This record gives sequence, structure tokens and C-alpha cells, in this order.
Amino acid sequence: MTFKSLNIIEPILEALEKEGYVEPTPIQEKTIPLLLDNKDVIGIAQTGTGKTAAFTIPILQKLHKRVDKNKATPRALILAPTRELAAQISESFKTYGKFLNLRHTAVYGGVGIMPQIRDLQRGIDILIATPGRLLDLMNQKRVDLKKIEFFVLDEADRMLDMGFLRDIKKIASALPKEKQSLFFSATMSNEITKLTKEFLKNPVRIEITPQATPVEKIKQCVFFIDPENKIELLFDLIEQQKMKCVLVFVKTKHKADKLAKLLSRNRVTADSIHGNKSQPQRIRALNDFKTGRVKVLVATDIAARGIDVENISHVINYDLPNEPENYVHRIGRTARAGSDGTAYSFCSAEEREFLNQIERITKTKTEHAEHKYHSIKAKDATGSQAKPKSRGQHSNNRNSNRNSRGPRPDGRKNSKGRDNNKRKDGRNKSSRFGSRGSSSGSNSSSSRVRMGRTSSRR
Ligand code: AMP
Repeated sequence: MTFKSLNIIEPILEALEKEGYVEPTPIQEKTIPLLLDNKDVIGIAQTGTGKTAAFTIPILQKLHKRVDKNKATPRALILAPTRELAAQISESFKTYGKFLNLRHTAVYGGVGIMPQIRDLQRGIDILIATPGRLLDLMNQKRVDLKKIEFFVLDEADRMLDMGFLRDIKKIASALPKEKQSLFFSATMSNEITKLTKEFLKNPVRIEITPQATPVEKIKQCVFFIDPENKIELLFDLIEQQKMKCVLVFVKTKHKADKLAKLLSRNRVTADSIHGNKSQPQRIRALNDFKTGRVKVLVATDIAARGIDVENISHVINYDLPNEPENYVHRIGRTARAGSDGTAYSFCSAEEREFLNQIERITKTKTEHAEHKYHSIKAKDATGSQAKPKSRGQHSNNRNSNRNSRGPRPDGRKNSKGRDNNKRKDGRNKSSRFGSRGSSSGSNSSSSRVRMGRTSSRR
């Protein structure tokens, strides 16, 4: 199958060739003809399958065939849950539409609204937006959606998770009745089904079967470990495997900043990306990561949605996600565009149940690795031991350790504010690193990571 056989017009074919795309991905092969044939579509596909081009290409083609010289109001609206994803989609329109005379812009929060208003006033064909900023612009009467011919809701499941349902409904009610609509979602819940019934007309459902998803191509491995050893294991893996482009996931924004600082202090170039960072900061972090200026990007789940960096070799779940679907989204950041990828997960006793849930939804028993910091407690945790402690339980532990002189079992500070486990640079005293860079040679073999059993489909 070629793009040409899908009846794609020459200027787009040329742009695709420049990108080095040889053939359409399965989602593109199925979606493009339907969209060119005016059908509404529900696409169940994960990120990394080429879903963005699956709607970008036909929209460009159809708008090009009926050029609106005035460009007074947008004719296509794409809603995305995060700024990063909106920027990413905008980039796709730019790439595939580089030989067409169509204008697009992306509007999202976290940056000044005035340049976006000016873009809209100059006139555009395609508008990519996050719901909050679009509603702002609609309330200020800066955007008119009456001429929308194409409506795309990308990552619909994520939109609902993030509480955008009301916003989406408000926006959709401002769109004309006659239009072509397309919903993309990684998962299909009852809520999404309800939404599609409300907004789509006789939609064709396209599902990219799990076998075709990139998750199958990703080498996955879990490390059972106690929380206080995670940092050492991270350093070991980055160093031993000479990792060059690593995306690390943690559960909080604060932890993302802290970990990025700790890595940088130990000569591993790193930055963080999360919801508290301004848009220029996020863009800079992503660019530095893309160009290799920083080796490690530490992220939280929300911020990671739109990260499309082709050469991410490793995704490390420093903390396991509490929603198993996020595991699939996280690891889908590696093995992009046909390349290989590895996903490592650090699992402490408290996260054991999260791992069980992940294995249930991916229907895979994950391979585990033997390593220096292996924790039997984490591996064998069951019942209440396998779940995060409630706040009350944590504070009881803290009290009981308050007068302890030795290292705290939870790796936190003692009553004098000192952290007995940590050196000045923030690493554990027991670290095998005298200083960064001195770990090569026989030392490192002591903590070589060996893989355990191989993964098997259940
Ligand atoms: P997406 O699922 O839209 O996030 O796309 C995942 C990645 O696949 C992006 O880096 C795209 O540039 C790339 N891609 C999309 N379509 C193709 C194709 N037909 N051939 C090769 N790479 C592609």
C-alpha cells in the first residue's frame, strides 16, 4: 500500500516523501479513505500509531480542494487535551501542508493570548486548540466557529479524564450541524460511547488491534526495589547502558524538579516538564531534549502526553502510574516511528498492586530483572503492603523514626532536618560512586543488571 494509492494529492505526497514516509500506517490506511469519503469516524488507536497524520492529511487535502481566499474564519477545528499535543498537531499540519497555501494556528493556555488573537485576525483555515483557551477566545468573541467543516477530538479519553467534558460540549454546541467529525481515543469507555452518539453521525469505527500497536515492540522490564534505592538504580542504568535519550516518569511535579536537579548535579544533563512550568519553559525543555542537549527529561503524566521525540530510546517509570492506562501512554513515547524502544519500571512494595493492574490491562506478565538493589519485599508484597500507605500511616512511621540515629528506612530526613542517607550531592552514602565518572571498571559489574524470565502473553 502506498500513499499514492490512497489518492493523496501531489503536494502532500511530496511533503510525505520529504519526511521519509514510505507507506501509510494501518490507522492511516483505514482512516484516510473514509475521511476523504466524507464519513464520520471513531478511531481507537494509541499514540505512536501515526494517528495524527491520519486526520491531518485528509483535512489538508479537502480544504485545499476548496480554497477559501479570505481565510476569514477557520474551517477545521482540532481539540487536544494538552498544550504539547496541540503544538505537536500544529507541527504536523506545517509538515504535511508545506506545499499548500493553507494557514493554521494553535491556541493554548500558558502563553500570552494577544499573539493568538492577532493570528486569528489575520485569518486561518485550521485551528488547533486546547478547550480552556478556546473558550476564553470564544467568550471574548475573538473566534467564530460557524464555518467549521471538520471537527476532530483528539485523545478523547484523556479529555474526559482531565475534566473537559463540559468545555467540549460547550464548544461543540457552537459548531454548525453540518460538518464531518472525527474522534480519536486510546480506550473506549461508556462515557466516550455516549459522547460519540451525541456528536457523530453514523460513524465508522476503526480499531487498531493491540497486535499492531507499538507497545508490542517495546522491550519491557520491571525492577523490584525499595524507594530509597531507586535513585542509585537510575544512575546505574543510565551509565551502564550508555543511555542517550531517556524519559523518566515520576508522580509529582515537585519530584520531577528534584530529580532533574539531582541528576544535573551528578553530571547527567537533565530537565523537567510538568504542569507548573510555563509554556516557554516546556518548549525549551523539549527542544533541549530533542537536540540532545539534555539526556534525561523528567516528566509527570499530564505533561508527557504530547511528547513526540523520535529518538527516545528508554522510558523509565521511576514511579509506577496509579492509572494503568497511563502506563501504555508513557511507554508509547519510545519505539516511535518504527524504531526500537525499552521501558523500565521501578516497582516498590507500595506500587505492587499498580503493577498487577498494568499486567491485567496489557495482558502481559512483565519480564523482571535481577539487580543489586532487588527487593524481595517489593516482589512479594500483597494485600495492604502492595498499596500506597494512607497519609495517616505515613505520619505514624515518621513519628516512630523521629529519634532514630541511623538512616531512615523511608529515606526521608531525620528530626534535625538532616538526611542520614544522603550526601551533600543528594545521593546515597552507600553509593558505589566516589564521584560521578569514577564508576567504570570492575565496580560496575557488581551491580550489572541481569534480566529475569522473559515476558509472556497471558
Ligand atoms: P502519532 O501516533 O501521530 O503521534 O505519530 C507517531 C510518529 O509516527 C510520529 O513521529 C510521526 O512523525 C510518525 N509517522 C506518522 N506516519 C508515519 C508513516 N506513514 N511512516 C513513518 N512514520 C510515520
